[in-house]
Amino acid sequence: MYEFAVTPAVTQLRRPGVIITEVTPDSLAEELELAPNDRIIRVNGRPVRDYLDFRFQTAGETELTLKVKKSNGETHEIEFDRDEGEDFGLMFEQIVPRQCANECLFCFCKGNPEDARPSLFVRDEDIRLSFLYGNYTTLSSITEDEMNRIIEQRLSPQYVSVHATDLKTRAYLLGVDEKRADIDAKLQRLLDNDIELHAQVVLCPEINDGAILEKTLRDLAAHYPKVVSTAVVPVALTRYNTDERLTRVTPEFCARTIREVEKLQKEFRKSLGVTFAFLGDEIYIKAGAEIPSRRHYGNYPQIEDGVGMVRAFLNAFDRLVRTSNDSGRVSASSITLRRASETPRLENVRTHPAAIVPTVDPFTSGELIRTKHPALNGTILTGEMFAPILASQIDRYNRLTGSRLDVLAVPNTYFGGDVAVAGLLTGKDYLNVIGRIKGDFVIIPKHTIKSDEPILLDGMSFDDLKQKFPVPVYDLDLDGLIATLSS
Ligand code: SF4
Repeated sequence: MYEFAVTPAVTQLRRPGVIITEVTPDSLAEELELAPNDRIIRVNGRPVRDYLDFRFQTAGETELTLKVKKSNGETHEIEFDRDEGEDFGLMFEQIVPRQCANECLFCFCKGNPEDARPSLFVRDEDIRLSFLYGNYTTLSSITEDEMNRIIEQRLSPQYVSVHATDLKTRAYLLGVDEKRADIDAKLQRLLDNDIELHAQVVLCPEINDGAILEKTLRDLAAHYPKVVSTAVVPVALTRYNTDERLTRVTPEFCARTIREVEKLQKEFRKSLGVTFAFLGDEIYIKAGAEIPSRRHYGNYPQIEDGVGMVRAFLNAFDRLVRTSNDSGRVSASSITLRRASETPRLENVRTHPAAIVPTVDPFTSGELIRTKHPALNGTILTGEMFAPILASQIDRYNRLTGSRLDVLAVPNTYFGGDVAVAGLLTGKDYLNVIGRIKGDFVIIPKHTIKSDEPILLDGMSFDDLKQKFPVPVYDLDLDGLIATLSS
């Protein structure tokens, strides 16, 4: 099991260098006769493992020697000068994720049906992806090389799944021994070297809640501001998570957690000036509690972990409604110009500018935005958890614009269990509600489609899904939805 888990990392070590995937015409790289499938092995004598190494080792360098293995097997050394900051015009292969060696009780892989798309079974635990995309790692099997790399290349911030600072509890949750679970010294070393951390707790009732959670949050808050924030998100169990050690999250549990954590949040706001420990939106929704105000979330440090996304959406929607004019038309530009600085984007904001981001865009909101008719008539599909919130806002929009938009809560029959979030809906779930579609189009949540390939979580292609619907299907994230309603 252990050997299998680290196979991608081993494979990558055996193939040194980074492969070029694209060369921009008329660029420096083209002048150097670099081509797709060439592998850059060294920069100024230093080995290159991936595109992060290439960027790090070329940054600020004007005199360079590249050792390149050409696609025909020949190895060349290319010496050249470049202007300061001159772009190479190169695109590289993606990083192959290193995989974890944990056996977490609540691992999402254990909650997948067998036929889920293969990438859902990838257990990535990679400090590079943490820096580039904000993926969480546990640091439990981080190597000395990786620690050095974070520090030397300033791969900051890192996103760390702490779960509990009580060692026994952490080891139990991760399914590893206490020696491996103990990351105190590693965290301290990162903090001593000014690496910022964002922490996460996956909250499992009767395991890391109550006094264990309080200790965890206090221990982490003691390192503020280097530990910038902590997200507490509830464990979500599908019908395939049958481990009897896990207890489902109930509304009562959520209400109690809010009461307990609110006391700490008040304390942190007083002592640190920030809320620091944020509860996932699901906890408020499940408890039937009010979503905290915008001030509670500060600059929304954990919005991609589902923390503050509902508040950000509600506020963006309020602005949309407020900027409507008497005729019911809504001005998108006024929203953007007046409020952009106050509005966190609801999409991925953790992605580092250096990250390679897939560019597949099978559908964009553009087709809907360009409608000549201010009134829209269609159906918006979303998860059962968010549906009541979205429906109440869409009702306001309908009254204002004369639109006939309908919000349809789609039950998640594919994963089942407690899964009610929009992001885990599948092609089969959408097809289950096809008979209840109203209007001229359907909108589905963009995040249910793989970012680099137009397929859904159950492996259904987006094209297949569209063909089965009697009306056009668009995929929009919440930003895209608001932009569409604003046009
Ligand atoms: S939850 Fe994450 S760290 Fe834990 S076993 Fe699964 S992939 Fe590994």
